[in-house]
Amino acid sequence: MESLIIWSITAIAAIFIFLPYYLKFRRRQKEDIARHKEAESLGITAPRAQFPFIDVSRCIGCGSCVAACPEGDVLGVIYGKAAIINGLRCVGHGLCEKACPVSAIKVGLGDVSTREDIPILDEYCQSSVPGIYIVGELGGLSLIRNAITQGRTAVERIARDSRRSGNGDVKDLAIVGAGPAGLSAALTAVHHNLSYLVLDQQEPGGTILQYPRRKLVMTQPVEIPLYGQLSETEYSKETLLEIWQEIMRRFDIQVRTGVRMEKVQEENGVFNISTTDGVYKARQVVLAMGRRGTPRKLGVPGEEMSKVMYQLIDAQSYTNNRLLVVGGGDSAVEAAVGLARQKGNQVTVSYRKPKFFRIKQKNESRINRLIAEKKVRPLFNSEVLEIRKDSVKIRLEEEIREIPNDYVFIFAGGLPPFKLLKEMGIKFGGEMRAPG
Ligand SMILES: Cc1cc2nc3c(=O)[nH]c(=O)nc-3n(C[C@H](O)[C@H](O)[C@H](O)COP(=O)(O)OP(=O)(O)OC[C@H]3O[C@@H](n4cnc5c(N)ncnc54)[C@H](O)[C@@H]3O)c2cc1C
Repeated sequence: MESLIIWSITAIAAIFIFLPYYLKFRRRQKEDIARHKEAESLGITAPRAQFPFIDVSRCIGCGSCVAACPEGDVLGVIYGKAAIINGLRCVGHGLCEKACPVSAIKVGLGDVSTREDIPILDEYCQSSVPGIYIVGELGGLSLIRNAITQGRTAVERIARDSRRSGNGDVKDLAIVGAGPAGLSAALTAVHHNLSYLVLDQQEPGGTILQYPRRKLVMTQPVEIPLYGQLSETEYSKETLLEIWQEIMRRFDIQVRTGVRMEKVQEENGVFNISTTDGVYKARQVVLAMGRRGTPRKLGVPGEEMSKVMYQLIDAQSYTNNRLLVVGGGDSAVEAAVGLARQKGNQVTVSYRKPKFFRIKQKNESRINRLIAEKKVRPLFNSEVLEIRKDSVKIRLEEEIREIPNDYVFIFAGGLPPFKLLKEMGIKFGGEMRAPG
């Protein structure tokens, strides 16, 4: 009788405690399998830059990594093990790595020998051409924190090199790009008393300058050389740029702005850096040019008109307009959301794919809400054919439509400067593979 009572209590406990847990687990797994299948069919399981590596032999399937990821949809748990669901969404925060209790996850670039888009670098960010370093997003790792860390790592390595040029025509170091990576490299050069020059085709600030006005920038604490800790986890674009300007003033970092680097060639141990402003000389070169390169164009008639733009800085400047946003990534969606929130705008989004799939979850819910409220009209599976003065011609599946239009914003990505790098002799991951 006693044992019957014990068994009954155990059975009741099992039903009330473990069954809901088991059902929840089953439901989540079903959802994750469905999301994984969908991601596979859309070809988005493969990552673009860095991504999480899961050691399935260690993974205990607790889901801490899934909960820790701020991008929402990168990871899931399938058959009791963590799995990549939407690799394209990984931007490399690395929080999954920190959250894993059994160290079964690591965020990185993986086997670069399979990557045509990742230059081969050593642990100090030196490329296959001795003396040319690649830091920040150009090397494949995104995020401001990574850019700052790599800029410092490369120049600390350079500072250990005993060959110094002094302050004549040949500098110790030339830094191309004044985004977070380039500025961190310049501060480290000041710290180590290296002679250096920084050049940038635009103003200092890098990609941060292109963010929409008042965008909230997420970052993790990082040490800026000479300055100290960047300790908040969120900054507005404007605050971050003010911090950079203050740092540049305080440490007298001079940037040659409006100067585009076109070629780097070595001659007798000195690099000639050919630019739109003439040739500069340096013993070592740090390339901190990011990956955005030149905006990719659609190549359609009318694209040269001044009403066509490739970035949106200030959505508030557009009211009571008929606007077309082309693209389906985060930048396109953020622009569409910003424009749709202004008075009297009619916003259409033209995207080649059948749905938005490689965007942050926050952006996805914002755009879906605006679509439901009819403030944004999505045209999926569509293609812009021609841009006219007051309209745009679009193919929507089999049908051709002409929609009234005042401005067009194109977010079709950028053409990364890989060709330029290859011309300098820099090798990429794919080239490591044996031929045949
Ligand atoms: C919309 C958006 C939102 C983002 N949000 C975040 C976020 O919240 N948190 C975060 O950590 N990261 C975020 N990022 C990523 C972050 O901005 C980048 O990882 C970071 O800026 C990379 O720094 P970088 O110095 O390597 O390159 P960049 O910032 O891209 O700077 C490269 C610089 O090189 C210059 N340059 C390029 N080619 C040449 C040339 N040939 N000659 C001279 N100059 C050249 C460019 O003008 C530019 O100033 C975001 C990116 C985007 C696009």
